[in-house]
Amino acid sequence: MSTTENPRLVLVVEDNPTNMMLVSAVLRRAGYATAAAGSAEEACRELARARPSLILMDVQLPGQDGLALAGQLKADPTTSAIPIIALTAHAMEEHRQRALAAGCDGYIAKPINTRTFIGEIEAVLAAQPRGGAVS
Ligand code: MN
Repeated sequence: MSTTENPRLVLVVEDNPTNMMLVSAVLRRAGYATAAAGSAEEACRELARARPSLILMDVQLPGQDGLALAGQLKADPTTSAIPIIALTAHAMEEHRQRALAAGCDGYIAKPINTRTFIGEIEAVLAAQPRGGAVS
C-alpha cells in the first residue's frame, strides 16, 4: 500500500495527553486534520500509513527522543521533505539551535499560546524553500 499525501494533515508527536489534546484541538479548529503519535515508534507507524504535510515534534518522548527521530526522518528520502516543527518546554536559544541542527525546520516553545500557535506554524511553513505550499 502506498502512502497518500494529505495536504492538510498534521502529525502530532507528543506523549503528554493534555498537550496532545490541546494542540490537536487548535489545529482542527483551524481546519487541519490531525494524526496522533505518543512515541517515535508510533510516529513511524503513522508515517507508513499516511504522509502528513507537517510534523509537530515534541522533543522529550519516551524511548527515542524527538530530535533523534527528526534526524532520522530527514535522512530518509521518503520523509525528508516533510517540514518538522519541534515543540519544547525550553525557550532558550541553545534548544532552538539544537532543534535546527537535528534537522527541524522550526521551533515553538511550550506551553503553546493557543491564539498565536497557528500563525507561528504558518510562519515556519511560509519560510520553507518551497514557498510555504502546504503540500
Ligand atoms: Mn514529552
